[in-house]
Amino acid sequence: MFSDHCPTHRRRVLLGPDHITGIHNGRNGIRVDWRCPCGGRGSFITGRAARR
Ligand SMILES: [Zn+2]
Repeated sequence: MFSDHCPTHRRRVLLGPDHITGIHNGRNGIRVDWRCPCGGRGSFITGRAARR
């Protein structure tokens, strides 16, 4: 489970693995794309580079 800011909810929402639409390895870490049940979309960076 993870939480992120949903632009449609305009607040943080709790999401699970079922809401992940894509995972991309990038230079800055791993980008996780997600879709909220309301249809809002977003992404966040995880992995080593995200932990400072
Ligand atoms: Zn939402």
